[in-house]
Amino acid sequence: MPTPLDLEPVPGCLACGGTSAAPFVTTRAMMHPGDEAFTFVRCGDCGLIYLSPRVPAAELGRYYTPYYLPYRGPEAWGRWRGLVGSGLARTDRRRVARVRRHAAVGAGTRVLDVGCGRPTFLRALVDATGCDATGTDFSDEGWRDGEGAFEGLTLLEGDLHDLSLTGPYDAVTMWHYLEHDYAPATTLRRLGELARPGARLFVEVPDHGSWSRRRWGRWWAGYHTPRHTALWDADTMRVLLEGAGWEVERVEPRGTLDPYTLEWMSRMERRGIDWSSPMAPRFPGYVARRAAVWPILAAWKAATGQGGSGLLTAVARLPGR
Ligand SMILES: [Zn+2]
Repeated sequence: MPTPLDLEPVPGCLACGGTSAAPFVTTRAMMHPGDEAFTFVRCGDCGLIYLSPRVPAAELGRYYTPYYLPYRGPEAWGRWRGLVGSGLARTDRRRVARVRRHAAVGAGTRVLDVGCGRPTFLRALVDATGCDATGTDFSDEGWRDGEGAFEGLTLLEGDLHDLSLTGPYDAVTMWHYLEHDYAPATTLRRLGELARPGARLFVEVPDHGSWSRRRWGRWWAGYHTPRHTALWDADTMRVLLEGAGWEVERVEPRGTLDPYTLEWMSRMERRGIDWSSPMAPRFPGYVARRAAVWPILAAWKAATGQGGSGLLTAVARLPGR
């Protein structure tokens, strides 16, 4: 048994700095054995939902175990690994398209991806545009065994604040990074120093304003308890970005991940499955609901104006020029 954990108090709201907050939801640690529970509070000033108290960053490794499905990659799905892998490639293509729609990226432009994980998005972006790409992550696990697949990319291991990055960057991307950040406002200000005026910033996170969150409540996989430090919606995302000096161009209730994944993970959390077990037997059920139930549910929710289906993307611009 690991030693008991001393949770760390959070001095104020991660978006506005406000200090009045009340408990909002208590959820079990997700993709994790046992029944440890954590509480997210709601900021009385801006409405942000954030984990408080939270796990000290240095102790987070306890929650990245064999139960943590993303670390197991497509291999967790056994004979279905090929199909799962091609789903990830589709996500990368959607990310490339999203960036090219809102930023001029090509040879001679510089792109920074914060929290790049396995840098397949940057690989796809460089192959499509010829841009100069840099990725950062706390761990080099995602590219250590890349065997040449990521040649030509600049990949840096460490905290954004400690790395010696040389801007200016023309575009910065954060795909499911910000919801893990312990000091997101500081990060965004730092990115403002590293970007050129007019640069575009892309942020994708789970959407706390979605019907998916209301449908699943404390089982909603977007909480990803206790790894997510805060859950954003369109309003709190604007508060954060504008407070950190970025001009918000758009906030959309959709992302590049398939929102059905959140639906499925939420269902599995409620069922209390063993996340370290082989996933292959679950694949047919996953596919069947994705094909038969999900389109009807999503269409009905959209038609009745119930908000997004689980993900949110913001595009912001660094003022000037
Ligand atoms: Zn706040």
